Amino acid sequence: MDLKINEERLWRSLTEMGKIGATPLGGVCRLALSDDERRGRDLFVEWCKDAGLTVTVDEIGNIFGRREGTDASATAVLVGSHLDTQPKGGRFDGAYGVLAALELVRTLNDAGTKTVRPIEIVSWTNEEGARFTPSLLGSAVFAREITLEKAYALKDSEGVSVEEALQGCGYKGSAAPTKETVDSYFEVHIEQGPILERNGTTIGVVTGGQAVRWLDINITGFASHAGTTPMEVRKDAFFAGADMAMALELIVKDFAPKGLATIGDLKVSNPSRNTIAGQLYFSVDIRHPEPGEIDVMETAIRNEFESIARARAVEVQINRFLSIPVTRFDDACQTLVERAAIHLGYSHEPITSGAGHDAINLSRVVPSTMVFIPCVDGLSHNESEDALQTDVTAGANVLLHSVLGRAGVRP
Ligand SMILES: [Zn+2]
Repeated sequence: MDLKINEERLWRSLTEMGKIGATPLGGVCRLALSDDERRGRDLFVEWCKDAGLTVTVDEIGNIFGRREGTDASATAVLVGSHLDTQPKGGRFDGAYGVLAALELVRTLNDAGTKTVRPIEIVSWTNEEGARFTPSLLGSAVFAREITLEKAYALKDSEGVSVEEALQGCGYKGSAAPTKETVDSYFEVHIEQGPILERNGTTIGVVTGGQAVRWLDINITGFASHAGTTPMEVRKDAFFAGADMAMALELIVKDFAPKGLATIGDLKVSNPSRNTIAGQLYFSVDIRHPEPGEIDVMETAIRNEFESIARARAVEVQINRFLSIPVTRFDDACQTLVERAAIHLGYSHEPITSGAGHDAINLSRVVPSTMVFIPCVDGLSHNESEDALQTDVTAGANVLLHSVLGRAGVRP
């Protein structure tokens, strides 16, 4: 099949959606379930209805638009992403995947193409986690990684709960999330990193997501006077922590280039300019795309931190706060993406997702995969986020042909 999406129409839809919550520096602020996000949802629903889709909203506010297949009993191919953004987000993160799914359906309508399986397009609630923590909330409820009750009770920084916010914007639906009627899930997204652009590759065939561990490190030293305590008798929690930070960077070099480590949060208890730090907290975020390697990294980090603590006569407590296993996307779905890229003549390479995505939740319950396209300078979660129109079109065409491969075309 030589079917291609309508490049101009997709670009126009992205531009229209990008006006909702537009920021002065060219970005977008559509926080989950805010008034601006509601306007984005309303526009998406209007476009779904114009495309002849049956729209349903589930109890966590995920929006589905269904195009029937010729086999009434077949499970649906689900395609989508999210319309919410970071406070200073870009026009492509999420919206691209939702509008590419819509363009896919519009293209099938124009061509009069019937599929065997139904196709459902979806916009997930609170993917970003910028307003309500955790992120990927709508897809987590759908995949039953979190209960609806727990999700409803989550509150934003102003004390507004998810349930109140859903009611407030009119998107607390009544449909129960039903993964049983879904065959598979596909999502197209900007890479949000520099690899495809650096390699000059148009399509990333996403193999899965990396393992993530969050550790809390608490160091107990001894607080005393900065002017009267000789250096050799000090139990300085901060300098011990500094040693650990340098050691962490060295350890992760052994796992280069796949292993990653970040210290993103650090607090001295009772901070004072002229008192030796008695207590220090810092967070550690480690990531690796291969199962098993994350365990080796964590063990190496624990051993080294404990040995530094002994040498500096301080106590260290290391607690694991979060652990996400490696995600492997479905082989058959990945093959469909690869074949679509070859069929359409786009350069392609396998890539691991560095960021979290709804597809990771979906992959726990149905065969799933993603398509990545390059973004300019690898930049995302930034108002300057950008993507080339040719890449946006390429990704949507690959999505179209992958989904057709899965849904089956009725001759
Ligand atoms: Zn996203």
